[in-house]
Amino acid sequence: MATTPDEVLKTHGLRSTRNRHVVLEEFSHADFALSQPELEKRLKGEMDRVTLYRILSSFEEKGILHSIVDQFGTTNYASCSSSCRAGHHKDQHIHFNCLNCRKIYCLPSNNPPVDIPAGFNAENISIIAIGLCKACNSN
Ligand SMILES: [Zn+2]
Ligand SMILES: [Zn+2]
Ligand SMILES: [Zn+2]
Repeated sequence: MATTPDEVLKTHGLRSTRNRHVVLEEFSHADFALSQPELEKRLKGEMDRVTLYRILSSFEEKGILHSIVDQFGTTNYASCSSSCRAGHHKDQHIHFNCLNCRKIYCLPSNNPPVDIPAGFNAENISIIAIGLCKACNSN
């Protein structure tokens, strides 16, 4: 995310609060998707579970984060592309789930990874590649 937390919140119609800032900061430093348990660990009890859950849900609703359910059934969240808006996600890319470290990565692409037939309007495409990530592969 190139913009500041304040700008991101404003663009997506959310009031700026300390907790929202803290969560956005975590995502701006992560190069892979984060699950709620992982975030709780990173925030070290800075906010309760319900507050964090509400923030993640509203971020997803407003087009700031998109969620990916990994092969283990855990929901992970990652920053959206700048063209995502409330109720309209445009994250048409493949996700990569590592079998070893279990991290989920967004794999950027300029085009939708599949051809959607005319007449269908895909708002979200969910494709997960499974294997070893770059870091695990080089060990
Ligand atoms: Zn999105
Ligand atoms: Zn890995
Ligand atoms: Zn993604």
